[in-house]
Amino acid sequence: MARKKVTVLGATGSIGCSTVDLLNHHSDSFQVVALTGGSNVQDLVQKSLLLKPQLAVIKDSRLYKDLKEGLSGENIQVAAGDAAIVEAAEMPTDTIVSSILGTAGLLPTLAAIKQGTTVALANKESLVAAGSLMTAAVKEYGATLLPVDSEHSAIFQCFENHNRKSVETIILTASGGMFLNKQLHELSEITPEQATKHPNWNMGAKITVDSATLVNKGLELIEAHYLFDIPEPQIDVVIHPQSIIHSMVTYHDGSVLAQLGTPDMRTPIAYSLAWPNRITTPVKRLSLAEIGSLTFFPVDLERFPALRLARQALLEGRELVFNAANEIAVEAFLKSQITFLNIVDVIEEMLERTQFTRPTTLEDVLEQDRLVRRETKECLAKRGESS
Ligand code: NAD
Ligand code: MG
Repeated sequence: MARKKVTVLGATGSIGCSTVDLLNHHSDSFQVVALTGGSNVQDLVQKSLLLKPQLAVIKDSRLYKDLKEGLSGENIQVAAGDAAIVEAAEMPTDTIVSSILGTAGLLPTLAAIKQGTTVALANKESLVAAGSLMTAAVKEYGATLLPVDSEHSAIFQCFENHNRKSVETIILTASGGMFLNKQLHELSEITPEQATKHPNWNMGAKITVDSATLVNKGLELIEAHYLFDIPEPQIDVVIHPQSIIHSMVTYHDGSVLAQLGTPDMRTPIAYSLAWPNRITTPVKRLSLAEIGSLTFFPVDLERFPALRLARQALLEGRELVFNAANEIAVEAFLKSQITFLNIVDVIEEMLERTQFTRPTTLEDVLEQDRLVRRETKECLAKRGESS
């Protein structure tokens, strides 16, 4: 059988590394078309030497020479810059893994969708910022959008072979992040070092902070709305600290279907790569006897208001504001410019201050995103002056 052609956007990140690991394990089944990276050129070189793509692209143009040197003598084209990443996404493939961080992934993901191919989407921020636009493009170009996020992969797996009309609710599970049991006053003391360590999942820095603030669950609620066309009131969230049940679907006969597994992103990535089939993974197998008990709690919206703000943003058509303000606030927190609790304060302030409603064209998305980022930076600068 012909090997499936795959491109990985963001191959040097956390999702990218897990994807490369799977592609390497299954080199008989997959052929790599293009790999892209942001600034970690040595890592991109190593992964390219391993998987032998047709093209390797680094975002940072200053690193073009290093990439070229690292791959000299190989039959691999090299390129650099944002436009080259979009061109990589335009190269014909069977599946494109979209795992660039943040709304920087939007244009390449849209280019992938316009190929009418299968897009395995990890880059949730793009779908949150431009959900209507992206889902319309998926329909227009006949693309298939598959979830990589573990919760959405779980829901997608629980949907299979079922009549979607009989779905009553979907239930996203949330680990609750690092600080689930901390009191509000303790949350203000949290450092970037503490917030970038997740108890269950090994992920990039930004999403680990998003998990700790519960902004990640807010982004995922919006992601679920767009991926599955489910209204906000039918999306529930429950805290499940062990991250064993990855999410659930309730049907109108009272049945609840769940997908379980050890917390390892290689399982949902493998599912999106092999869909509609499955491939083997080296993931540790689940032993419920070893785990003993699974626990569940409601979300405490007093300590973690991010989920309430995400619901509000979705209902008001202002998801882009929620996302862009968070991206800037998390960057500032990681540089120790604001406190952990300030992140969600800043999102709330930006939702109050900005009047934007859901953008309908790509130009509107890019313009709103630019303006919200600028205003968030101004808001952070003012906070800095008054503290
Ligand atoms: P990461 O920071 O580890 O990796 C991000 C990748 O994107 C890297 O290859 C980086 O070089 C590249 N990149 C960053 N900025 C870029 C830019 N401006 N232009 C081009 N490339 C750029 O992040 P991650 O944790 O792998 O997350 C990637 C995406 O997957 C995010 O949208 C995240 O929300 C989502 N996601 C991650 C996990 C996880 O376990 N890490 C789980 C679910 C969803
Ligand atoms: Mg997730």
